[in-house]
Amino acid sequence: MSLTGAYDPANIFARILKGEIPAVKVWEDDDVLAFMDVFPQSEGHVLVISKTSRARNLLEVEPEVLATLAAATQRTARAVAKALSPEGFSIMQFNGEAGGQTVFHLHFHIIPRWADRPLKGHGHAPMADADVLRSLAERIAAALD
Ligand code: 5GP
Repeated sequence: MSLTGAYDPANIFARILKGEIPAVKVWEDDDVLAFMDVFPQSEGHVLVISKTSRARNLLEVEPEVLATLAAATQRTARAVAKALSPEGFSIMQFNGEAGGQTVFHLHFHIIPRWADRPLKGHGHAPMADADVLRSLAERIAAALD
């Protein structure tokens, strides 16, 4: 899918927001949802999405939604850092198929990093065990300010 085109209301994240597909949630409010990536590139990989915007990518997002997402990403990253004590973390955000994007509902990746643990490939990581994800989500949620 290119950078231009229509929002697909049946994309995976839209279906998660509608409750049609389960997700391991970390936290949510009226505007955003933070949930565990089911194919995590590292332990504690979290995704942050808007509940209100139909932006597929960074080019389309309303500036006020972007500001809300940025603050939500920071809040979540702080909790990830507190809960899991990574040595670093990567914030990733892909735009368009050629840019590495696979789900066309704008999202930010929070990926904890440790120097001695190689990052799993984007789109190539194995599916995580749901109980493990639930336990990580609980630890991260407990560390939220
Ligand atoms: P993108 O490639 O669009 O930047 O990232 C999409 C992310 O969504 C990937 O990291 C992928 O692992 C994750 N993902 C794909 N399908 C699902 C799903 O059904 N549930 C969850 N929680 N994550 C998903």
